[in-house]
Amino acid sequence: MIYRLCLVFLGLSTLWIALALLRAPSWTIVPGFVLGWAVIDFGSGVVHMLLDYVHLPTSFRADLLFFAPRRDTPEYTRMRKAFFARLNAFWRIAYDFKVHHHTPRALGRRSLRELTRDTLVVGGLPVLLVLDVAIAVAAPPPWLVAAGLAMAIGAIYIQYFHSVMHRTDVPPLIAAMQRIRLVMTAEAHQAHHDDPRRSFAIISGWTNPLLDRIFVLLARLGICRSEHLVPERFDAADPAAPVPAWRA
Ligand SMILES: [Zn+2]
Ligand SMILES: [Zn+2]
Repeated sequence: MIYRLCLVFLGLSTLWIALALLRAPSWTIVPGFVLGWAVIDFGSGVVHMLLDYVHLPTSFRADLLFFAPRRDTPEYTRMRKAFFARLNAFWRIAYDFKVHHHTPRALGRRSLRELTRDTLVVGGLPVLLVLDVAIAVAAPPPWLVAAGLAMAIGAIYIQYFHSVMHRTDVPPLIAAMQRIRLVMTAEAHQAHHDDPRRSFAIISGWTNPLLDRIFVLLARLGICRSEHLVPERFDAADPAAPVPAWRA
């Protein structure tokens, strides 16, 4: 019910913003959209970096993490549902990032609703709300409205774009966005899974060179720590496993 109300607000809000742009057509709309897309790409990388490498003071459900060997079972789905029901939107997103390096392909099996439900609430709707109020009271310039709209779209669909990078059946719209470099390809994103110290952005990847430098700085400062990339139990589960080169 709440999700449906959010979708109604999303539809009305997008319509309101589109009408505001149509009322004042301007050449600045395209560069504004590109700017907003770059900002949300950078934001996706910062959030990803922090959720990968900052210790999260919650007890991750070890038996869920290590529920082996198959996750496509009713029992796993029931356990996951019960676990997620106790978490708020932020912790559900954090959990998804923490388990993603264990099971990267699982993200590609999620439904659109699962992938957008939490990011819609904590990411997209607040941006749209600010934009709606700004349009109503201050008539911001078209480039700024376009930038805000791009950021809202990116924030809502961030994990959807990421999930497509772990699928072989890429929807035609996303394939077109990949061709014009608005969305990263699976090959480009694989650089992060090959070496989780780089390529943190999960939308267009435009800001990865900058994010890579920021990660080096945060790692030197001890803010990002490799031992937090996965819950401790993961390493403890198989102490004989070779240490990956990037953690040596
Ligand atoms: Zn990661
Ligand atoms: Zn991934």
